[in-house]
Amino acid sequence: MSYLPFTRPSIDEATIAAVADVLRSGWLTTGPKCRELESRLSARYGGRPVRLVNSATAALEFALRIAGIGPGDEVITTPLSWVATANVVLTVGARPVFVDVDPATRNIDLARIEPAITPRTRAIIPVDLAGLPVDRDHLYEIAGRHRLRVVEDAAQSMGARWGEREIGVGGDLVAISFHPNKNMTTLEGGCLVMNDAAEARLFEKLRLQGVTRSADGTMDVDVLGYKANLTDVAAAVGLGQLDALDGFNDRRRALARRYFERIDPTLGLDLPPADFERSNWHMFQPLLPLASMAMPRAGFIAAMHARGIGVGVHYPAMHRFALYRRLGFFDGQFPHAERIGDSTVTLPLFADMAEGDVDRVCAALADVLRGGA
Ligand SMILES: *Cc1c(COP(=O)(O)O)cnc(C)c1O
Repeated sequence: MSYLPFTRPSIDEATIAAVADVLRSGWLTTGPKCRELESRLSARYGGRPVRLVNSATAALEFALRIAGIGPGDEVITTPLSWVATANVVLTVGARPVFVDVDPATRNIDLARIEPAITPRTRAIIPVDLAGLPVDRDHLYEIAGRHRLRVVEDAAQSMGARWGEREIGVGGDLVAISFHPNKNMTTLEGGCLVMNDAAEARLFEKLRLQGVTRSADGTMDVDVLGYKANLTDVAAAVGLGQLDALDGFNDRRRALARRYFERIDPTLGLDLPPADFERSNWHMFQPLLPLASMAMPRAGFIAAMHARGIGVGVHYPAMHRFALYRRLGFFDGQFPHAERIGDSTVTLPLFADMAEGDVDRVCAALADVLRGGA
C-alpha cells in the first residue's frame, strides 16, 4: 500500500503549463503574474489592498512595522502556533505576551486578553489554528475598547469564514501563508491584506529594499527594507491554486466529516470542534489519550508510520522553546497549551485524499491505540 503523507499539495497540469510559460517568457521575478494574483486576491477580499511577499512570516513582520510596533511595545498572542507568530514580535524588538488557549477551540482564550493588557500593549496577534477562526466579533470588541491593532495570523485559515464574511474581507491587517502545507500554495509565499493605499505603499517598500520609483525614472530610499518579493513563477502557481481553492476546501470539509463518522469513539481521542460552517479544515488534529496509552506520542507516530501513514505534530507550545525560556517564560505557565501541544497529532487531510484513505487512517488508529506495536 502506498504511503499516505499528512499533507500534500494538489497542482494541476494547467498550473504546471502556466509555470512553463513563465519560464519561457524571460520574465521570472516579480512582474505581471504577481500583479494579477494581487488584484485577484484584492477582489476576493472586498477590494482591500493585498500585496504578495515571499513568506507569511515576512507578511506578519511587515504588518507589525506598518502598525509602528517596536522596542518597548507588547503584543499579546497565543503560545500554541507555529513559532513564526511570536518570532516576528521579537524581530521588530517588541515583547510577546502569551495568554493561554481555550481548551475547546485551542485558539487564544479571549477572556484572558484584557487581564494581560498593560500601558505598553499595542497589538493582538490571533491565530486561527487548524483553520478554525478566532471569534472576530469578540476579538475586535476588545481591540476597539483598548485601541489595539490586530495583526491576524490567518496563515492557516484562507477560505475560512466568520459569520457572513470570509476571513480577510474585514478586520485590520491579515496575513495569509502560501507555504506548500497550507490550503493553497505559491511554493513559498504569503500576502498581507491591508486597510489603505498608504499601508500598501509602505509594504511595497519593506519587501524590496525600501525603494520608491518615480514616474520620471528616478528612485529614492527612505526606509530600510528587506529582500522579500515574490517571483512570477510562484505567482503563476498561486493563480492556478486560487482557482481551485474553494473546491479544495469543500473537499477537506467532506473528508473531515468522514473522520468524525469513522473514528471509533471508544478509542478515547479528543477530537477538534466539529465546525463545518467556519473552518477551512487546514488540519485534522485529535489529542491522544496519553495517560491510557501503552506508548508515548513518538511511539504512536512510529506505529502509524509503520502502517504507511504520516502523522505530524503542530505544534509544541512555543513558550517552552529555549529562546523563550531565556526571556522568562516557564513550564507550567500555560497548562492548556502545554497539554494540547504535548498530545496533539495531525492526521492526513488534503484535497487529493480518497474516502478510502480516511477509512485506512481510522483502521490504523484503532489498531495502534488498541495495543498494536
Ligand atoms: C505557516 C504559518 C506561518 C508562517 O508562514 P510562512 O509562509 O511559512 O512564513 C505563520 N503562522 C502560522 C500559524 C502558520 O501556520
